[in-house]
Amino acid sequence: MNTYDVTVIGSGPGGYVAAIRCAQLGLKTAIIEKYNTLGGTCLNVGCIPSKALLDSSHHYHDAINHFEKHGIEVSDVKVNFKQMIGRKAEVVAQTSGGIDYLMDKNKITVYKGFGSFKDATHINISTGNTIDTIESKHTIIATGSKPTTLPFAKVDKKRVITSTEALSLSEIPKHLIVIGGGVIGLELGQVYNRLGSQVSVIEYMPKIIPTMDTMLSKELQKSLKKQGIKFFTSHKVTNVSTNGDDVTVSVDDKKGNPIEFSGDYCLVSVGRSAYTDKLGLENVGVKVTERGQVETNAHLQTNIPNIYAIGDVVKGAMLAHKAEEEGSMVAEIIAGQKPHIDYNLIPGVVYTWPEVAAVGKTEEQLKEEGVNYKSGSFPMRALGRSRASMDIDGQVKVLADTETDEILGIHIIGARAADMIAEAVIAMEFRASSEDVARSSHAHPTYTEAIKEACLAVNDRAIHS
Ligand code: FAD
Ligand code: NAD
Repeated sequence: MNTYDVTVIGSGPGGYVAAIRCAQLGLKTAIIEKYNTLGGTCLNVGCIPSKALLDSSHHYHDAINHFEKHGIEVSDVKVNFKQMIGRKAEVVAQTSGGIDYLMDKNKITVYKGFGSFKDATHINISTGNTIDTIESKHTIIATGSKPTTLPFAKVDKKRVITSTEALSLSEIPKHLIVIGGGVIGLELGQVYNRLGSQVSVIEYMPKIIPTMDTMLSKELQKSLKKQGIKFFTSHKVTNVSTNGDDVTVSVDDKKGNPIEFSGDYCLVSVGRSAYTDKLGLENVGVKVTERGQVETNAHLQTNIPNIYAIGDVVKGAMLAHKAEEEGSMVAEIIAGQKPHIDYNLIPGVVYTWPEVAAVGKTEEQLKEEGVNYKSGSFPMRALGRSRASMDIDGQVKVLADTETDEILGIHIIGARAADMIAEAVIAMEFRASSEDVARSSHAHPTYTEAIKEACLAVNDRAIHS
């Protein structure tokens, strides 16, 4: 029987990073993946393919809406949707292939098959009709998540779809009805809106991206509305039915009056749930929470001491970079080190255009916690860089402690916010004050000048607004 110091179940960003870090630390490591390709949700049906389609559709949108203004005349611009989906598949294949290379380079044994616990130190790997058993001193559960479904909206994967199908459609929807104005609904909604679909977003809460700062929700909704997406917030979906190629979504509007939406596709994007199906947790007695997540302590250790869990299958934000940090942390804990993650400093990003990115506390959270804070904002339209690229929507808002001036939160909407948020994370990791950032030179002209200006604005001394 093959024996390992560590076995990782699941090869998403949590699992493969954990495996690499274990191998770097000298631990004999195996990884088990039930699909043929490595990389999990993120690489195969999540982060990477969605960004590939966002990029492709953005080029098309620019070509038909902005090129002329830039002095570039093009005619007969058309979408070749098959090619667009094909390019996305190539990007996915290259990226997943990169993980094969990394496993090989780090001498990690890869098992393609379904992993399940036989007992606390033995794992069965089933492939078709055969079952292999390996022995492992430690196991890291990194089995990720799957789309949450609604009891009254049967996902048939043809007309009523999840993000997985929305990333590989064979035609551009005429009317895409999106249930859930969260990250997936807005990113994929924007892809199809740019490609010509009518897009209606039905959101249960009074605002889209409800967990983010209200300024970001409002600004994003304003921008996306301008681009043609229709929003129905505080609307409650009561039923979804199909008839051939038609989908009908029944909804109670803000006042509780029943209304109907008719379209050809309905994307159900109401969150994701931890995935532990057939993992055999009951064979070892690993506890799960009421929400089905694997229960862990602050060291991501389950109630069975040699079994750990990371990523989407445990509590916290369902984000690839959160899973990666946890993967490294658990590997280091197993190797006897004492790593730490500050969960307050895991950034959240929505890759629409304008992009949305945030780290730290929202204004609503600070109010609720009774923290005394001051705030500084700077509009993107006041930046030379934004005017040069015609990306004038959005703003940066910085929240800082009234007395100490320590930055408590940075909330950005605008071009390249996803890349800019790194500056905010580093500043907050080093517990910078808004004055620290305001006094740091920012290259001109760049979008990052908006962060400097918003920090200056915290003390009423922005230069350009
Ligand atoms: P996963 O990536 O889900 O990987 C788990 C792996 O375990 C899977 O490959 C699964 O097949 C395997 N597995 C499960 N059970 C078993 C078993 N018993 N045996 C063997 N293998 C098993 N996050 C971001 O940070 N940025 C983004 O831009 C972003 N975009 C997204 C877009 C979409 C459309 C979706 C759906 C998600 C997106 N996410 C994004 C979220 C991100 O994909 C997840 O947070 C991330 O993949 C979680 O990583 P993980 O390693 O915990 O799990
Ligand atoms: P989400 O939690 O971001 O959004 C779900 C939305 O659906 C929420 O706004 C919620 O209020 C709404 N909702 C819930 N039930 C509803 C109902 N019955 N009717 C109408 N609206 C309803 O979830 P998601 O967009 O499905 O994404 C799943 C996960 O994947 C998220 O945790 C997210 O972090 C991750 N993800 C991240 C990125 C990124 O980082 N850019 C991109 C895509 C997905």
